Amino acid sequence: MENGDELDELLAGVYENEDELVAKLMQQLQGLSHKQQRLYGIWDGNPDAGKRAFVEQWRRRHAERRAMVAAMRDPSRDPTERMALRTSYILRWRKVLFSCPNCWLLPGLCVCGRMGRYFPQKTRVVVHAHHGEWGSASNSGCILPASLEGSEILLYGHPDHDVAMREILNDTSRTTALLWPGSDSLLPEGLAALAGQRTEGRITVVALDATWGNARRMQGWFPKGTLTVRLPPESTLKENKLSLLRPVRRYRGDLESGRVSTVEAVASLLYELEGDEAMYRGLLDNLKIKVDACRLQKNRTLVYDTQAPEPPSARRRYRGRGVGADGGGAGASHKGGDGGGSPSLSSASEGEGGGKEHEEEGEAEGA
Ligand SMILES: [Zn+2]
Repeated sequence: MENGDELDELLAGVYENEDELVAKLMQQLQGLSHKQQRLYGIWDGNPDAGKRAFVEQWRRRHAERRAMVAAMRDPSRDPTERMALRTSYILRWRKVLFSCPNCWLLPGLCVCGRMGRYFPQKTRVVVHAHHGEWGSASNSGCILPASLEGSEILLYGHPDHDVAMREILNDTSRTTALLWPGSDSLLPEGLAALAGQRTEGRITVVALDATWGNARRMQGWFPKGTLTVRLPPESTLKENKLSLLRPVRRYRGDLESGRVSTVEAVASLLYELEGDEAMYRGLLDNLKIKVDACRLQKNRTLVYDTQAPEPPSARRRYRGRGVGADGGGAGASHKGGDGGGSPSLSSASEGEGGGKEHEEEGEAEGA
């Protein structure tokens, strides 16, 4: 995406550049193919209706973004208020226009209905996500609510979600621990023993979903004395050398630095706590489905050979017409390798790495 930064600058200085911004939108609209409209869920057979829906959504988001930027410029706002503005915007718009509110993929690639569902006996999983992750197509933690009974995801720094997280921490009917790789963290068996004494074995695990730097900051949000639990070194992904999320993330999931995706970490911990191998494998299978769908959204090939989520007829028709036949350039942009985000509008994809939020948003503007 050559103009991600440019677009972001435009958005930050919208008052001066409104005309230019609209011109950019019109340019993007020109390349909005039927295939893309199907992917966004706005294709209804009428060539103009989808484009109208696109403009409408784009305008609404743009207005809200402008309001957010203006409010954040107010020097009297403290960091908590700024965070609330930021997270409220992200909660509403995520990173990509039209994306599914749950799996954060485009509607045409939504994996929510394809997630195997599992029922932990004693453990409840809460994902605490940073706004840099929220709405990102390549995020893993967002599939956990669809995968695990009783699981939910909360957005760090969002006022309502922070209240919900405090309630979880104050719930004395469960033993709650933050999944955190500290040397003084409990091992799963220690946590299970403690929960056995205190809360009849019932456990809530809070898993942070953030880059390493953000996760450290988020950990500081938790009250002193919050229990922490870590994975025993020998348990982590014993059969995988590299994180399953690696094909959609450039810097994450490197086991050498001790980092795995949120889903993998949770799957391993649940296995330690509950011993349910089918659940462990099922969670990893769900992650593979998500990764492959994200690859498709980024115009890349499947890496796990999960079934293509798009209706076969639509795909065949598209292939039959040849690459680029519908004007989006889909398929033409990746000759192999993970060399960065999709250059074309057709992918509606995000930047890599999770930490470059402005790029993701910039690309999302093109979505
Ligand atoms: Zn979905």
